[in-house]
Amino acid sequence: MRTLAILGATGSIGRQTLDVARCAPDKFKVTALAARSDADALFDLIREFHPAMAALCVTPKELPEDVRGCEWFFGEDAAIRMVRAAKADDVLSAVVGVAGLPAALEALEASQRLLLANKESLVTGGGLVMGRAAALGKPVLPVDSEHSAIFQCLQARQGNPVSRLILTASGGPFRRWRKEDIDRATAAQALGHPTWKMGLKITVDCASMMNKGLEVIEAHHLFRMPLEKIDVVVHPQSVIHSMVEFEDGAVLAQLGVPDMRVPIGYAMGYPERIPFGGERLDFARLGQLTFETPDTERFPCLRMAIEAQRAGGVMPVALNGANEEAVGAFLAGRIPFGGIPRVVETVLAHTAPGNITCAGDVYEADRAARASAKAALAAMGA
Ligand code: NDP
Ligand code: MG
Repeated sequence: MRTLAILGATGSIGRQTLDVARCAPDKFKVTALAARSDADALFDLIREFHPAMAALCVTPKELPEDVRGCEWFFGEDAAIRMVRAAKADDVLSAVVGVAGLPAALEALEASQRLLLANKESLVTGGGLVMGRAAALGKPVLPVDSEHSAIFQCLQARQGNPVSRLILTASGGPFRRWRKEDIDRATAAQALGHPTWKMGLKITVDCASMMNKGLEVIEAHHLFRMPLEKIDVVVHPQSVIHSMVEFEDGAVLAQLGVPDMRVPIGYAMGYPERIPFGGERLDFARLGQLTFETPDTERFPCLRMAIEAQRAGGVMPVALNGANEEAVGAFLAGRIPFGGIPRVVETVLAHTAPGNITCAGDVYEADRAARASAKAALAAMGA
């Protein structure tokens, strides 16, 4: 029986994590749950899972009688304090954005394993997180489906060098759209993802392909692979979740129905697999699997993310901060879809190179990027 703390419990990944835990009550004991502001949703989860601790960034007006048995943490850093106190065996972080970085770093100190869905913590602080994990000898297990696929393929590596990682991308809802139409797209159009059902921010990132750019950076840190050895291929069916190529040209792929409970469960149970009653692949019904080269003219965010990581230092932090601000403005209806890459490009152009040596450097670069993004948005009349 492993104890598990879940950060972002009320979100898409958080709920699916609880779903896997529900299927294997003899294997996982949920001991701590954190969310940002959705108190009612968190209260319901507490009533079902009875964790010893709970946390909310936004203090609720009142605590119902039946959830007062928990030890509560409130405030912006509530999840971090909860992680420190809970000392769960595993922390699964499914917070959105750079806000997840301090929690990821704390989880490495307080717990045995970090199960990481929050890709932005690696994009902004990948060197710090992986460096600390290595120093402490603690594993960072990927939850993102592509990285889980690669991690699963790497189990067959047996010490052999890897020549290439191939990340698959669905291409998102605008895969076949003309550039002019993508630029004018609305939030309702961007939120119609063809194969995955996810939180708002990542759904917009998938539509712009920024998500794939963030995932290239995530893979670079998780697997210590140089960027030149990471490729992206568009695969609209989302059945191959990613691939690993070895030096003899052999390619291993991990396939399955697109269901996040597979990669979540793999991280939770690793090295054991957790059956949860999901759908199975029917190859004859699938008929065919197709592949395309990503178009970075229509989807410039993918190119900008890779270039930002190539430049290194504060650049990926600036990219991420600008993107978080731009996606927020887009979801609020303040800018059209094409405004997202414009804001990111402007912020990157105004960011001076700089090194990241500690978490404080990340937060500082993130603050500067957000201020720069707000100025860019204001200049666009948003
Ligand atoms: P959601 O928006 O659905 O959920 C986010 C969760 O995080 C909510 O529970 C939210 O609480 C909570 N939260 C936000 N900020 C904080 C904070 N500062 N402290 C504590 N909790 C916080 O997002 P997703 O589940 O879609 O995504 C989560 C992460 O996983 C992202 O980094 C995403 O890129 C990654 N990911 C998601 C996938 C998916 O299929 N959804 C696939 C692969 C990766 P509240 O409800 O109160 O706002
Ligand atoms: Mg992914």
